[in-house]
Amino acid sequence: MSDTIAAIATAPMKSAIGIIRISGQDALAISNKVFLGNHGENPRNMVTGKFLSKNGDICDFGMGVYFKAPASFTGEDCVEFYTHGSLAVLRTILISLYHAGARPANPGEFTHRAFLNGKMDLTQAEAIIDLIDSETELSARNAAEQMNGSLGREISSISQKLTEIASEFYAYIDYPDDEIPQTERDDIAEKLYALSSQTEALGGTFEKGRFFRDGVKVALIGRPNVGKSSLLNALLGCERSIVTDLEGTTRDTIEENLSINSLALRLIDTAGLRDAETIPEQMGIERSRRAAEDADLVIAVFDGAEEINDYDKEVIEIAKKQRSICVINKTDLGCVLDKEAFSNLPTIEISAKEKTGTDRLLDMICDIFEIADIPCDGKTVTNPRHASTLMRATDSIKSSADAFRGGIYPDLAVSDIENAINILGEITGLHAQDAIISDIFSRFCVGK
Ligand code: GDP
Repeated sequence: MSDTIAAIATAPMKSAIGIIRISGQDALAISNKVFLGNHGENPRNMVTGKFLSKNGDICDFGMGVYFKAPASFTGEDCVEFYTHGSLAVLRTILISLYHAGARPANPGEFTHRAFLNGKMDLTQAEAIIDLIDSETELSARNAAEQMNGSLGREISSISQKLTEIASEFYAYIDYPDDEIPQTERDDIAEKLYALSSQTEALGGTFEKGRFFRDGVKVALIGRPNVGKSSLLNALLGCERSIVTDLEGTTRDTIEENLSINSLALRLIDTAGLRDAETIPEQMGIERSRRAAEDADLVIAVFDGAEEINDYDKEVIEIAKKQRSICVINKTDLGCVLDKEAFSNLPTIEISAKEKTGTDRLLDMICDIFEIADIPCDGKTVTNPRHASTLMRATDSIKSSADAFRGGIYPDLAVSDIENAINILGEITGLHAQDAIISDIFSRFCVGK
């Protein structure tokens, strides 16, 4: 890849400063045609200068810096421009760069080049997306640690131990008549079981680690008029959802994000469950049921000032099927509802209108997910690809351990170890297929 790419690296909106990135073997020559500032004379030195449009007119004054290969993000010659953050200015400079010989960068192409040039492994590249997408301090910290290579190093160290074990047994494969003593087989099986526990535990961190990346999906369900929208608004501290006395107002799901104690909540207000009167309402109710099924937590809302009816009973049945909290709302009007109906489900009384009990509800949610206890050392797996690959590697390591212990021919046991090493290599990128790699980088934004 020697062609030179250019892209705007900052968000496509008006801002104080805009950044343009250029990478490739002609980065300096091309940028010299657009930026008059001698930034190439001293690499890694920021210099001021003028930016020219493709017609040679001055379109901005700003700064440029040259990173000489291989000491750059991509490992190639790179230039970065810092301009005023007008989209018109940024586009004019970008077009000028295209005119001078650069081509538009594809999504993630800068990072893809960095990966191909050995600047980072795949876990570090993927951590960049997680860092950009992170919504809480904890998820940013974990992503930053992964970007720093902690997950990649952990996986490489397991691979290294597997390689050492496999190489001990190549001799027996070459001389199949030599018997491996059973004590040696048992020893090796123990080591392999220990490594499989390590990959299994690492993969298991995804159970909570996924909340770092995707947030916790919380669906508010209940029959119409129990106060779901009022509760969403109370939690958000703003009027996001329409609140009326009319039933069937919320026909589609409404999703809002709320970060609380490092937990990113994705709150989903749903259409009230009842016998729909119209097709759009029926569709909305179907979505409510699906949202409840997909949610990590169901908040089942009830009107405390009314007796439980058949629709409430249906809501209780949904709540029983998964992790849920029953919220008895409208307690400012008094409580006539029979709490026995909730049997053992966690229950809380609130008033969305008066905003009482809502803080306690948030505490209950945080206690359920205990995100503050998750280590942010980068060894918490947040990526579903990493989690499923670690589980495949675990199976392969376990099967090699079983084979060693069971006295099976060493070549079968060793081939399972080699398989596990290859699987782990899919995570770091050492053995990942091109299609997987392209797919990963296509999810980046242009300019990254
Ligand atoms: P939804 O259909 O379940 O989303 O219910 P809404 O949030 O739209 O509320 C229906 C009606 O109940 C509205 O008139 C709200 O003002 C009222 N309401 C909601 N929560 C409370 C509450 O805590 N106390 C009282 N008194 N009224 C409430």
